[in-house]
Parts: sequence; structure tokens; C-alpha cells
Amino acid sequence: MQKFLRLSLSLCCLLLTLGSVQAAEQQRDYPLTRLAPHTYIIQGPVGYPSVENQGFMNNPGFVITRNGVVVIDPGSSVQSGRMVLKQLRTITRLPVTHVINTHVHGDHWLGNQAIVEAYPKAVLMAHPEMIRLANNGAGAEWVALMERSTNGFTRGTVAVVPVVAMNDGAELKAGGMTFRFYAPSDAHSHTDIMIQVVEESVVFAGDNVLNQRIARMDDATFAGNIAACEVAAAIKAKVYVPGHGPAGDIKVVNNFHTYLSTLFNEVKALHEQGKLDFEMKDAVVARLVPYQNWPGFSDEVGRHISLAVLELDNAF
Ligand SMILES: [Zn+2]
Repeated sequence: MQKFLRLSLSLCCLLLTLGSVQAAEQQRDYPLTRLAPHTYIIQGPVGYPSVENQGFMNNPGFVITRNGVVVIDPGSSVQSGRMVLKQLRTITRLPVTHVINTHVHGDHWLGNQAIVEAYPKAVLMAHPEMIRLANNGAGAEWVALMERSTNGFTRGTVAVVPVVAMNDGAELKAGGMTFRFYAPSDAHSHTDIMIQVVEESVVFAGDNVLNQRIARMDDATFAGNIAACEVAAAIKAKVYVPGHGPAGDIKVVNNFHTYLSTLFNEVKALHEQGKLDFEMKDAVVARLVPYQNWPGFSDEVGRHISLAVLELDNAF
């Protein structure tokens, strides 16, 4: 009897352990937000990839067409991609026909794997430079970075790289919807596309526009990113989806444009006075008061100033 009890207890422990491993492998659910009659996003938490957010912190989007679903940026891992599909299935059983990735940073596209697992015929699209870089090491680097930042949570993720290149001015017509592509050069990552869903008056801006979170500008140029914000604003869409943070109207774009242009113009003025980057910080920070509560501000602003100085030096 005692032996039986011990066996049952150990079986029980084993099942509990298996259960918790299984539970730990799943990405936490995040709710859908409807932005337009056929357009939804899952707004990820605002922050950087971490154990706490399981690496998930972007804004995956769905556009439901007559023939199927166009998915934009399905998240940072196979786990987040599966969560994204689970939310999608609460609103439609239509298959995913296309996946569009806004740029090469893996927090936006490593979820492709989950979509292709479920819908092997889905067509994956991105900027040609994103496809090139992702195939030449950036994909593997992002897989490793995500695994490190989440302490192994995203293990099992592989880079499924888009194959169809979309250039500036290209259009995709799918199930009665028009997706117009804008590829401003030298913006957030040199691999960026922004997507206008014409009939819905929605723009997916990728990381060219962020809301309530500071960008990493290491792969960006200030001049190019400022110009990209102007391209987005000129579309005059009803709704803008930033790469991170809440969606909203044109104010979301203008607000991020103001951050970038205020910083860049202030650095330019101080640079012309002969100041060095570390001597500029107090003056620049004083001009950016509305942004000081955005996650990443105190970590990134010094780096943004140095990058802006480098960009100005390289321009001459
Ligand atoms: Zn990015």
C-alpha cells in the first residue's frame, strides 16, 4: 500500500512537473483590439524583451479580407506566433494568406514560424534588404538574442525568412483589400516598410513610429526616421499602429516626429557651437520633458545624442 502511495505520489509529481513545463512554454495571452471594421491588433506590453514579458512586446496586426487573413509582424518567437494565431481564431476561421514583416528586428517577425506551421501556403513579404540581412546572419542573431533576453523561454524558435520582396510604391491586392507599401530609406533600420491598408484607413508604421517607448536608434538615421514620420503623416490615415505602444490617430506620428526632430535639431545647434556629446546632455534632456517617462528614455537618450553627433559628422 505504502509502495502504491509512493508510486502515485511520484506519478503525481511527474504529471505536475510536466504540466508546469507545458504551461511555462506558452506565451501569455493578450487581448485583441479592433481598430477598423476588418483590422485588429494585439497590443503588446511596452518594454524591451525580458523574462517578464516572455520577449513579447510588439503589436501584431490582422486584416481580415474576403479570402483570408493578412498578418503583420506576428511577434518575437514561435511561442508568441502561436498566441497570435490563437487570438486570431477567436474572430475567424479563414486561413492566413499573407504575412508582412515591417523590418529585420526579430521582435517583430520570429513569430513567422508559427504562422507557416499552421498555414504552409502563406506568402511571406518584406523589404528586400530585410530578406538579405535575415538570410545573412541577422535571423540567427535575433533568435539567440531573444533566447538570452528571455532566459530560454523562446527556445525552439527558428528564423523563417520572407521570400517576396516589396519595394516602395508596391501594392498587394488581397480579398478586396489594398495594401500599399512605403519604404523610406535610411529610417529605423534600413529595412523598413510601412503598410497602408487603404480601405481601412490604417497605417502600420513599424518602428519608424513608436508611442510611449523610446526607440533604439543604433540601426537608424535621425534624418531618415524623421522623413519616414513625415511620409506616414502625409497619408492622413485615421489610425496609426506604431511598432511598440498604443495605436492612435496622427498625433502618435507627430509626437514621435517631435521627439526625433527636437533631439536632432538641439544636438545640431550645440554641435555647431563646438560642444561635445557628453556636454550636451542636460540641455537636450531639458527639451524632451514630455518623453522622460517613456521606458528606455534614461538608458537611450545619451546614446541617441552620440548617434546624432556621429550622423552630423558623417554628413559633411
Ligand atoms: Zn525595430
